Amino acid sequence: MNYSDIPEKILLAAKKFPMRSAYEYNGSFVTYNELVKKAGGLAAYLCRNSSPVLIYGHKSPDFIIAVSACLIAGRSFVPCDISIPRERVKRIAALSGAGLVICTEKGLSGDMNVPEISVEELQKLYENKGISPVSEGDENAYIIFTSGSTGEPKGIPVRRESLQNFCGYAERFLKNDVHTGHALFSFDLSVADIFPVLTQGHTLIETDAPPEKDTGSFVCTPTFLRLCLLSEGFSRVNFPSLETILCCGEVLPCETARKCFEHFGDIRLINAYGPAECCCFVTAYEVTIDGLSGDIPIGDGNNACNVEVREGEIFISGISAARGYLDPSMQSDSFRDNGYYTGDMGEFREGKLYFMGRKNGFVKYSGFRVELSEIEGEILKINGISDCACVSLPDSFGQARCIKAYVVTNAPISAEEIKKYLALRLPRYMIPKVIEFVSSVPMTANGKLRI
Ligand code: AMP
Repeated sequence: MNYSDIPEKILLAAKKFPMRSAYEYNGSFVTYNELVKKAGGLAAYLCRNSSPVLIYGHKSPDFIIAVSACLIAGRSFVPCDISIPRERVKRIAALSGAGLVICTEKGLSGDMNVPEISVEELQKLYENKGISPVSEGDENAYIIFTSGSTGEPKGIPVRRESLQNFCGYAERFLKNDVHTGHALFSFDLSVADIFPVLTQGHTLIETDAPPEKDTGSFVCTPTFLRLCLLSEGFSRVNFPSLETILCCGEVLPCETARKCFEHFGDIRLINAYGPAECCCFVTAYEVTIDGLSGDIPIGDGNNACNVEVREGEIFISGISAARGYLDPSMQSDSFRDNGYYTGDMGEFREGKLYFMGRKNGFVKYSGFRVELSEIEGEILKINGISDCACVSLPDSFGQARCIKAYVVTNAPISAEEIKKYLALRLPRYMIPKVIEFVSSVPMTANGKLRI
């Protein structure tokens, strides 16, 4: 395979549109010309080594430059947003075998136990004489960490060929010149924002809040779309160019889809599906207003790779599927038969693929994947806590509304203290909103947790 395919496409985009903005966030931006110049300079430094590079920061032009530099230099990158507590970032650095940490925000460097590049040093490295994309290197483009059931974050190595294939697949949905993205870089949905947009020479505008600028396409989770649609202003009048909204990451409720058509009329609404283990999304379905009732399909048969339903479970194989987790002890039996058993139940009806719920394992909370056992594992590390169980409380759409922890302890510890302890170790979205102290974890007669 050609390892340099993606950076070559970005270079080509820079030749065609040197002064076009490649990336914008919060008033700062980088043009294609600057992007390839700075990324080439940084890559000249990075190519001396081959270990993964952890990129620690928030949405910013520097983050995008660092990602591009890793691809040019043939090193895989490990994206970590600043919302991930430092202790967890350190664990991720150790688990991923990162040989370098690039800090793209001021004040982040220090105590990572791995050589670090600060923002100031980064600016100097941009001045290096640039290199061309290397034709060999790490077979992985990136390693993304997700909540792990064993109490440790779980690293998923995604191959360059999977990412390349994904770009080809996603470009058909995201073909507008200007695109809005919302996902944090440590969340695999951001892959859909960054790569198909840059390889086509388009502009990515990122936001933390509901979008305010009119752009051609927008990728988000259904929960975020629902939030955007609460505002009357998120409608055709203010967004005359918005052609495509692509939702991914959790169930798209009919109500949200209907509201979207009410606000935008002729919008192209895509319900895309896939796990991080298979490079962002692998199936997609264009939702139409006609017959909008019941479940919305997640696929129309035109997939990024091979997608089957085996004994009721969605099985993904071929170019998109990772070969296993980074830590072989976490392998579980999900990776077998040269593919990935997703744990998602599925059904084909008239050629359309439907999501039928999870077989086991994680819950989705605001689009984030959360292994409740990882939270339990952290709570049980607190002195004096003898038992604990977490549940997710559903909202009226069947999505996780909040996470609740039942805690058994004789120690004089408060819910606030537990939350403070967790805040140092877990991302915000994994911290239980409700903590109830109980004498024993409440069970139903058949051994299930009583909510
Ligand atoms: P993540 O690895 O965080 O992207 O989460 C992947 C999981 O999110 C899948 O295994 C599904 O359980 C769920 N998921 C992703 N997209 C959809 C969708 N369109 N409809 C329903 N569930 C989805």
